Amino acid sequence: MRDSVQTASPPAGTVTAPVLIVGGGVMGCATAYFLAVGHGIAATVVERDPTYTQASSALSASSIRQQFSTPVNMALSRWSFDFLQRAPELLAVGGDAPPISLVERGYLYLASANGLTALQDQHRVQCAQGADIRWLAPAALAAQFPWLSTEGIAAATWGAHGEGWFDGPALHQALRRKAAALGVRFVHDEIAALQPLPGPAWHLQGRSGARYHAPQVVLATGAHISRLTHTLGVPLPVSAKKRDVFVFDAPAWLDGCPLVIDPSGLWFRPEGQPQPGGGQRFLCGLPPRTRPGQPADPDDAPLHAIDHGLFDDVAWPALAARVPAFEALRLRSAWAGYYEMNTFDHNGLVGPLPGHEHLWVAAGFSGHGMQHAPAIGHALARLVAGQPAPEVAALALERIARNEPIVEKNVI
Ligand SMILES: Cc1cc2nc3c(=O)[nH]c(=O)nc-3n(C[C@H](O)[C@H](O)[C@H](O)COP(=O)(O)OP(=O)(O)OC[C@H]3O[C@@H](n4cnc5c(N)ncnc54)[C@H](O)[C@@H]3O)c2cc1C
Repeated sequence: MRDSVQTASPPAGTVTAPVLIVGGGVMGCATAYFLAVGHGIAATVVERDPTYTQASSALSASSIRQQFSTPVNMALSRWSFDFLQRAPELLAVGGDAPPISLVERGYLYLASANGLTALQDQHRVQCAQGADIRWLAPAALAAQFPWLSTEGIAAATWGAHGEGWFDGPALHQALRRKAAALGVRFVHDEIAALQPLPGPAWHLQGRSGARYHAPQVVLATGAHISRLTHTLGVPLPVSAKKRDVFVFDAPAWLDGCPLVIDPSGLWFRPEGQPQPGGGQRFLCGLPPRTRPGQPADPDDAPLHAIDHGLFDDVAWPALAARVPAFEALRLRSAWAGYYEMNTFDHNGLVGPLPGHEHLWVAAGFSGHGMQHAPAIGHALARLVAGQPAPEVAALALERIARNEPIVEKNVI
């Protein structure tokens, strides 16, 4: 999709807006879109890098699932999946429908004997929430996915509806483009500081020298949100955790292949169309490895430092053990991006920043923010417009001070 959004340089003097959104990733753009389409509010979005080189929204694996451990996340996924199905129509501009490329193929969670009780517990919660998640004993698993080795697998769950993957960067750009078409203004600047004014109102200082005034401000700055909230004396428990994604080709067609999660934590899924020789392209990822003398999963590891040994030494053997056809795979490329990890409870932080009126936060999605962006943007726009949004009440930031985490156990 051609990028037709004009991102203006900051004008001299003071920019005023009904709502200022800091950060134009998928969360900022979704909020801007829903404010415009649902409430007639044309926000101004301030983004420090309109090429989104390091933004999580440009580096996402863009998959969506119902198989969470917390009901709030399942509900957000249900809402977002419905939106994604209609996104090409809802986000079309001038008859040009964006290619969201939603594939509904499910997630397949594999459990060893050690993980069986946890899988059973989560399956019970998911079914109680109305998710169509099927329980597969090893024989049923082998029958449905004959290309998969069931060695060491005690049971699995597979999402028959409402799970799969899509083109996340295309969704991000489509929200941005539609928001711009609805009157949202995009400005290229980095916000360095925020200051509350009587009113209530907010004064923001841009690194360009421009100043911004607005009665309401939304902070959607991703993995480094604490840099801004810290200036107000409210650090948030959000850290930038590098995650590598590997792209490989396999000379085999795995019929009906879902997004598979191995008990080892390794995940893989198909990407794109079948290849001319009958093979398939895949993405895979896994948690970083711990190396002697080095901190485990450090904050802010440089994105260019892809751990290729992680693929050769850990991922490939595990892939080949689970799918014999992966023995002959060819690694094509790799990239890395930051999970905006909420170290308090691995769940989104959505709502007003405690102690600060009309300053709203959307952060800490811990690797599941792309799929939830439509639902979060919709809910946050309602809050900013003075309407209730009970669907995100559980994600309010007050839970940190109260020490009441709602821990999401399924962080991939
Ligand atoms: C490797 C990887 C795989 C992932 N896989 C999935 C997945 O399968 N499914 C899923 O749902 N999610 C996934 N995610 C997570 C998802 O991509 C993120 O949750 C989501 O993109 C977060 O969006 P955001 O808008 O909050 O942050 P970002 O996309 O990081 O956007 C924040 C923006 O704020 C800007 N900014 C920051 N500070 C300032 C400032 N001071 N002034 C102005 N602008 C500023 C940044 O430049 C950036 O563009 C994955 C993430 C990664 C890295």
